[in-house]
Amino acid sequence: MIYIRSKEEIEIIRKSALMVSATLTEVAKLLKPGITTLSIDKMAETFIRDNGGVPSFKGYNGFPFSLCISVNEVVVHGFPSSYELKDGDIISVDCGFYKNGYHGDSAYTFGIGNLKPEVIKLLQVTKESVYRGVAQAKDNNRVGDISFAVENYTFKENGYGVVRELVGHGVGRNLHEDPQVPNYGKRGDGKRLKTGMVLAIEPMINLGKKEVYTLKDGWTVVTNDKKPSAHFEHTTAVGKDAGEPLSSFKVIEIAEKANSELNSSYYTL
Ligand code: MG
Ligand code: MG
Repeated sequence: MIYIRSKEEIEIIRKSALMVSATLTEVAKLLKPGITTLSIDKMAETFIRDNGGVPSFKGYNGFPFSLCISVNEVVVHGFPSSYELKDGDIISVDCGFYKNGYHGDSAYTFGIGNLKPEVIKLLQVTKESVYRGVAQAKDNNRVGDISFAVENYTFKENGYGVVRELVGHGVGRNLHEDPQVPNYGKRGDGKRLKTGMVLAIEPMINLGKKEVYTLKDGWTVVTNDKKPSAHFEHTTAVGKDAGEPLSSFKVIEIAEKANSELNSSYYTL
């Protein structure tokens, strides 16, 4: 069942999605070498609850934390832990916010300190690929048009591995709804898109090969070749001429930039 949301429902989903963006902005402000991923999760849960929301992920199929925090070769669903971030790490933070009956779902991959140029490019291309997908989320297109746009840009144009085992999804009253939105596929394939559908578009892109496996904890997904992986996600409303992101990276990017300037001045002391 694929739901068509009213304008009023989409505004409620937008509020939840923007609260995810606000949470990820708070994460951006905290990031620096030496902090643990568990402390980031604790801060985020407090922030979400202080804003009247519930962390969508906590308890979802037994997931024990508020955020998925996936460092370097971890693709998605990483557990926050006592691991201390270090210079050169990348950290994918996936967050869900539930309030007034609707979820928002968004993810962002941050760099810690100085990254290798090849890793910076992976982040840039993965972020851009979300927007390639969003542009195809328009009335009368098909899910495969989104999938093709993401795969074409990340794999065919840039040679990255596109994770197949995990996909985007509808989002609304439930965190995961129909349809599935793979990050690979053919133009014109799959379910037809209609204005008012709300989709989480979320490329998971590997610097190396596409193959992944799941650790014994049953959650943590890791690249087979142990090369880094990036993940960006927007909750997106299907529109007449293009999709409209309901989450926003704008404030996250401002905080990310300010934080990196702060930390680079710290390094030069
Ligand atoms: Mg997500
Ligand atoms: Mg999602």
